[in-house]
Amino acid sequence: MTTAATTGRTEDELRELAEQAGRDLEDADALDVLRWAAETFGPRFCVTSSMEDAVVAHLASRAFPGVDVVFLDTGYHFPETIGTRDAVAAVMDVNVITLTPRQTVAEQDAEYGDKLHDRDPDLCCALRKVKPLEEGLRNYDAWATGLRRDESPTRANTPVVGWDAKRRKVKVSPIARWTQADVDAYVAEHGVLTNPLLMDGYASVGCAPCTRRVLEGEDARAGRWAGRAKTECGLHG
Ligand code: SF4
Repeated sequence: MTTAATTGRTEDELRELAEQAGRDLEDADALDVLRWAAETFGPRFCVTSSMEDAVVAHLASRAFPGVDVVFLDTGYHFPETIGTRDAVAAVMDVNVITLTPRQTVAEQDAEYGDKLHDRDPDLCCALRKVKPLEEGLRNYDAWATGLRRDESPTRANTPVVGWDAKRRKVKVSPIARWTQADVDAYVAEHGVLTNPLLMDGYASVGCAPCTRRVLEGEDARAGRWAGRAKTECGLHG
């Protein structure tokens, strides 16, 4: 049995906490879910954001002013995504933490060859997303994501609170039950920052080499790794 670094909770206790909260909070308001996370984990809780929009970061800042917002800078982001991160850091009551891979893109190219994302996107995501996130989450017992059930079939069963067995953390998805219309309404009501690419035909924003605009009738994530069987980067699998 491993004990979590500073809270004194064991992994078994964290997992039981996650499973109980998943049942108790399934129908809870997103803000209440985040208030529960803030009260339960305090500084051992963070939000991760791809900077597609700042909805969850905004909600979390209301529940937990100054909350850590973790952003993975893969080195392949659109300039608009980096600009959204900088704007979030400038105007919201959050502490943006940027994680970077161990290698720059140039160093990765030197070791693995150019455009690893085209030849082996799973390895590229493992090096530039999964590993940095695992290392970055070491300081936390719980993390929040912006996953929504309506985004794609692979996300249809996303729990509001669940156990992330891969990282042995509590995983909170406060807007899991929201629809795109709910997101749009929240953005409009609160003037939340969004990535400008969302106004330019992109429904889901990831790394530039692996993201295209979506076509009429496609689900929101159809523009990610288009033409490949890959649908997730490994952060949520
Ligand atoms: Fe590499 Fe593409 Fe994954 Fe980004 S999304 S880490 S460029 S494979």
